[in-house]
Amino acid sequence: MKIARIDTYHIPVSLWAALWDREKDLPLVTPLSMYAEHRERYGSWYWNPAMTVVVLTGADGREGLGWCEDGCRAAQVIIDEHLERFVAGASAFDHERVWDIMYRSSIPYGRKGAALEAMSAIDIAMWDLMGQVEGKPVYELLGGAADVSMRLYASALHPVDAEKVAAEARGYVETGYRDMKGRFACGPADGEAGMARNFDHARVIREAVGGEIGVALDAYMGWDVDYAIEMVKRLEPLDLAWIEEPLLPDDIKGYAKLRRASKIPISGGEHEFTRFGFEQLFDAEALDIVQPDVHRCGGFTEARKIGAMAAERGLRVICHTYSIPHLHFSVAMGCSILEHFPQPCWFEMPEAPRPLFVG
Ligand SMILES: [Mg+2]
Repeated sequence: MKIARIDTYHIPVSLWAALWDREKDLPLVTPLSMYAEHRERYGSWYWNPAMTVVVLTGADGREGLGWCEDGCRAAQVIIDEHLERFVAGASAFDHERVWDIMYRSSIPYGRKGAALEAMSAIDIAMWDLMGQVEGKPVYELLGGAADVSMRLYASALHPVDAEKVAAEARGYVETGYRDMKGRFACGPADGEAGMARNFDHARVIREAVGGEIGVALDAYMGWDVDYAIEMVKRLEPLDLAWIEEPLLPDDIKGYAKLRRASKIPISGGEHEFTRFGFEQLFDAEALDIVQPDVHRCGGFTEARKIGAMAAERGLRVICHTYSIPHLHFSVAMGCSILEHFPQPCWFEMPEAPRPLFVG
């Protein structure tokens, strides 16, 4: 199926939708927590979130849809000013060839970040169009699945008051979740008191749900290696499922050192791109759990290679974040669980969230 047209749309709404509105003012340790003016509020430094949506129209009028985060509007510009010339006129089934041409042509400014997000949106749209042409869901094109059900884990549990956190965690168990993930508030700039606050948050969740429920925590790149080693030692008695993204994604040596020192599994990868980036993490034995984001790492074409590399090394793959493409990928790759963002019981949304994609 020849791709007759490629259109891009800038959507001034976060890929995270209502989650973003809720998270921007809540405490969260981040890569900027070392700077006092950006310590607590994610919303003090994060750019205006938006999406680039790619629509590919096939010669017969069928449409394939893909999207990515449009960091500072860069992804849309990259597609409109450069990548679209490699897509229009190509066959939707030539995804490997188109991917390779986009990757090679964008090397001087690409390889990671916005260029790969742009490529990811195009690649997802190509797979969607292939599925439309074949009359099959993308998970079947990716290798099929005997069991199309997917277990979700609840991802929220922000470090607010202990009673709220405990009620929220118990609520997830009552809803049926068997796994959940919380967020840390503190990093190296917060000293001993911050370490105690981090520990207490994890303890409150563990005590609220008991020993049978999987409990993970996310440090959103806000720690350094010495801090992380001390923190995982303290957290060890809580039997956590994993600690997520404790270090900057480029601190691969730090991840490897931490992983050797930690009895708690270390996860990461949501801010890594392409098989070349993930290979460095794998070679350094930096992670126990790999968390690619199909909307960032290079679309389905690249994510399935990353998934195969992880499988070869016996590593668990759990996609970063919830999306329909991640649901298809997770089902096809046999991932055990997928992230999901319920609304915390204590949080009132200012207005009801609007659907991002109607129909
Ligand atoms: Mg994360």
